Amino acid sequence: MRKDVKHQPASQRIKNFSEVSSGLTKEDAVLEAKRCLQCKNAPCRKGCPVGIDIPAFIQLIKEGKPQEALAKIKEKNNLPAICGRVCPQEDQCELACVLNNKKIAINIGGLERFAADSAQGTSHKPQVTSKNIKVAVVGSGPAGLTCAADLAKMGYQTTLFESLHTAGGVLVYGIPEFRLPKSIVQGEVEYIRALGVDLKTDVLVGRTFSLEDLFQQGYKAIFLATGAGLPQFLGIPGENLDRVYSANEFLTRVNLMKAYQFPEYITPINIGKRVAVIGGGNVAVDCARVALRLGSEVYLVYRRTEVEMPARAEEKENAKEEGINFQILTQPIKIQGDEKGFVRRLECIKMELGAPDASGRRRPVPVNDSNFVLDADTVVVAIGQNPNPLLPAVTKGLVTTEEGTIKIDENNMTSIPGVFAGGDIATGADTVISAMGAGKKSAAAIDQYIKEKYGK
Ligand code: FAD
Ligand code: SF4
Repeated sequence: MRKDVKHQPASQRIKNFSEVSSGLTKEDAVLEAKRCLQCKNAPCRKGCPVGIDIPAFIQLIKEGKPQEALAKIKEKNNLPAICGRVCPQEDQCELACVLNNKKIAINIGGLERFAADSAQGTSHKPQVTSKNIKVAVVGSGPAGLTCAADLAKMGYQTTLFESLHTAGGVLVYGIPEFRLPKSIVQGEVEYIRALGVDLKTDVLVGRTFSLEDLFQQGYKAIFLATGAGLPQFLGIPGENLDRVYSANEFLTRVNLMKAYQFPEYITPINIGKRVAVIGGGNVAVDCARVALRLGSEVYLVYRRTEVEMPARAEEKENAKEEGINFQILTQPIKIQGDEKGFVRRLECIKMELGAPDASGRRRPVPVNDSNFVLDADTVVVAIGQNPNPLLPAVTKGLVTTEEGTIKIDENNMTSIPGVFAGGDIATGADTVISAMGAGKKSAAAIDQYIKEKYGK
């Protein structure tokens, strides 16, 4: 039988921000590893966007060698403790696992997390010969961290610039502590620093330095990994009332600034008794579960059905278990406020599913005369994020697409020679592992570019 990770009981976990899942025990990890068929063609490996040798690391866990298993994973993946927690394995490696036919795919994510956690703090620093060539990476989310780590492993003098006071991108300011503890991200960042990456925080590239300044400072190539952090709004009346938050502001206040520990930490969060979160992705579900832990009754308002919700299945289940009220087939049309300018109600209309739209999902269409009102004193808008616009706005010649993503070629090079881009800034909001895949590909392309241009 498949061994799954254990969870804090719902009644207990809604009162704290501690990690929901406790990971596989050593005994369960070995039992789970023993179920692996060690398939010769390893379809699971093809399902992994960074190509981890999955059967090989599982075999090492089976042999009771988690440290060696971690070294095997780190040949391809610099952030295994993070991926083991937040990657959608059910749509990737586990989907491809041959045992998935019988609905008992190996718990690859659980095993990856087990290896990372049980060998935490052990060093896998490869021997590198320094190339004496400087490369700059802008943005320290999963794309930037991965690219910087790979460049350092190739011997480049790599500087990682981050505008916030701490590294990690969405991993620290977006994904809540109860899904991905900050200490785990910190551990992975420390590993990347140990590889020789020079992390410079509180540097907003485009304001503190331009890309041209970086070239003048001697950087031979630049990788842009600035992410999609610009909130989208619905454009409905009432969105500028007090206690309407973008998901970004809401999560940043709570996660990064630790508002849930106010006044021990200085940033407060002002929410009421009934919170309506609008959206159906991971971001919306995270906001809903955070609001619940802050003591509110929470409605998740989504215009399609649960089947079309893009959030991970596991997180939807967790949210339901915790008591989030799923208000599906519902479209907000107006936020109503009181005379002091605070949110009081959310006016909505019921929807039904029509013909499929461009995304292949059935389009939600309004049901006539179905308006109704939800009592809510806080609204969190979590309907998506756009690419960060600063660098394209201030950099002459940096071409973007209609969606505002930075345009790249097949080698991830932008319209400016020597400037590469990847992750959410080039694809639009996506996943941790796809950002990491882009970081890896870009590091290889930068290496190739420098070798061709400078012959080194
Ligand atoms: P980011 O993680 O956004 O990092 C960009 C970094 O660049 C930031 O640190 C930013 O401060 C910095 N920066 C921006 N501009 C500048 C500048 N001019 N100068 C210097 N630094 C700059 N994906 C999953 O796979 N599983 C999940 O469970 C999941 N849950 C999510 C939950 C939330 C709440 C959110 C918001 C996203 C979630 N995602 C999830 C998506 C995933 O986190 C992103 O796709 C991924 O982080 C993108 O990585 P990135 O490196 O491209 O950008
Ligand atoms: Fe093991 Fe499944 Fe990969 Fe086969 S496909 S090697 S059973 S994890």
